[in-house]
Amino acid sequence: MKFSELVEYLSQLEATSKRLEMTRILGDLFKHAEADDMSAIVYLTQERLAPNYEAIEFGMGEALIAQAVAQATNTPLAEVKKAYKEKGDYGIVVEELSKAKSKKLQVEEVFEKLREIATTSGEGTVEKRVGLLADLLKQSSPREARYLLRVPMGRLRLGVGDVTVLDGLSWSETGDKSLRPALERGYNITSDLGLVATTFKKGGIKAVNKLKISVGRPIRMELAERAKSADEIITRMGECALEPKVDGFRVQAHKDGDTVRLFSRNLEETTPMFPDVADAVRQQVKAHKAILEGEAIAFDPDTGDFLPFQETSQRRRKYGIDEMTQSHPLKLLAFDVLWIDGQDVTGVPYKERHEKLGALISEGPGIQLIEQIYVNEPKAIDEFFTAKIEAGLEGIMAKRPDSTYQAGARNFNWMKFKRAYQGHLRDTVDVVVIGYLRGRGQRAKFGIGALLCAVYDAKNDRFRSVAKVGSGLTELEWAAYREKLDAIALPHKHARVDSNMTPDVWIEPKLVMEVQADEITRSQIHATGMYDDEAGYALRFPRVVNPDREDKSPEDATTEQEIMAMFEKQSRTEVKE
Ligand code: ATP
Repeated sequence: MKFSELVEYLSQLEATSKRLEMTRILGDLFKHAEADDMSAIVYLTQERLAPNYEAIEFGMGEALIAQAVAQATNTPLAEVKKAYKEKGDYGIVVEELSKAKSKKLQVEEVFEKLREIATTSGEGTVEKRVGLLADLLKQSSPREARYLLRVPMGRLRLGVGDVTVLDGLSWSETGDKSLRPALERGYNITSDLGLVATTFKKGGIKAVNKLKISVGRPIRMELAERAKSADEIITRMGECALEPKVDGFRVQAHKDGDTVRLFSRNLEETTPMFPDVADAVRQQVKAHKAILEGEAIAFDPDTGDFLPFQETSQRRRKYGIDEMTQSHPLKLLAFDVLWIDGQDVTGVPYKERHEKLGALISEGPGIQLIEQIYVNEPKAIDEFFTAKIEAGLEGIMAKRPDSTYQAGARNFNWMKFKRAYQGHLRDTVDVVVIGYLRGRGQRAKFGIGALLCAVYDAKNDRFRSVAKVGSGLTELEWAAYREKLDAIALPHKHARVDSNMTPDVWIEPKLVMEVQADEITRSQIHATGMYDDEAGYALRFPRVVNPDREDKSPEDATTEQEIMAMFEKQSRTEVKE
């Protein structure tokens, strides 16, 4: 496909404010694309160069982008910067400064060049990157240059999510979303949308159905629903397995002989960060090839006691890893196994998987099988829960003994039962920023008074407003945050957003922040939970506790369903008190 054709689709995606329209445009794009271009197209629409578990980044900030634009268009750097000040978008700047050219670039060429820019290393990397990007811009028409430049800047502002891509793929073949479940299965076990798209284009849904788990490539992790009470757990599961809920890092370990790769809850590779865990997997996992999961938690090397999460979290770092490995060694508490020597065991019931896991791990200091008991009455759950809380843990996990491992699913096969917070919300909520209001009074000088935030409606792949957040940041933080938001501002409501409130500025749903609220109330103001005129749900007195949950994608934010469950749980606690 010619890059200019792709650009036309990107501009249509940019202009639409309807979710269904977005699916249709993507469907049309996939229908017209060649199989060999599919993965590049999928990655580019999501501002990526590889599946999200491969950490390939452009590493080009605004200063370098400005240099590349200056070089490509033969314009003095100062003039480029001045134009940027006026337009606020290097895409527009380069479009206006570029000369007309015939549109010869192919998608494949652009993609390969962008990958070359991102993977360039060694001496003079910075100059090389600027030079390569300038070359590519020189070959582009003004309109092509505009979209091309937005990719390394992460500013396409399309907000195309994973599910949106899957719906688009289904649409390209059937004109509806009927193939989404099968495509989603393919995605859940491979974590690579590009691979799913190419496989689908080449061999249809039959080929996608044949996709398999592969050691070395992460599997989207199974997640847990919240439990309201011990009674609920027994009602839903009957006899169940209980495990402590340890607060560390989720690890999915892939072992292929001596090669070990570790992945986080969000499928980022964490192997370089946790060399001690990788070593333990090499030494204590008896199979040649295996995939297992567990929670890695730091312990005191002198006493052997597990450390609280604040200590464990210090292991999330890029530098000083050796020292940290000494002072805060990690232990992996293994709780599941997905693959053992040539055999995919995700279809095996949990109880049996756990037995296999026990047999897979040899004695040693780095990996330990998680404690597990079977119970069949609420009283036993309460006892186990109380004991774990007294031991300083955050709660317990209940698992259905006959459940298979369901990649990427969050359902009642796994239930997390955490400490309730008397009358208030103990859990923080991860929200996605969808807009902001300019505000009045003191804050108006920064041009931002409050953020309009949403939670994720996973069923319909939409972001539905849940709160107006106006506190928790310092004045300086507000000003800096506004700059971040302006870089992804939109002229209209994003196609995947639902909100009854209209902010001054709409934002691409991309940034996740953690907020604490006093409680959840019913309200007519927000869209969360609002169907057929019923009242929606809102967070009361929300304040920012962490403005940057960069480890979470917008689809990892708290879901609408979770908000409704939290509301119910909160009402129940109030009645009890
Ligand atoms: P989620 O991961 O469900 O989206 P979250 O990020 O807020 O939610 P929690 O609600 O704290 O995380 O709980 C889920 C996490 O608990 C798992 O992803 C895993 O990292 C951790 N965990 C701790 N102990 C266990 C266990 N025994 N079995 C499964 N997961 C466990």
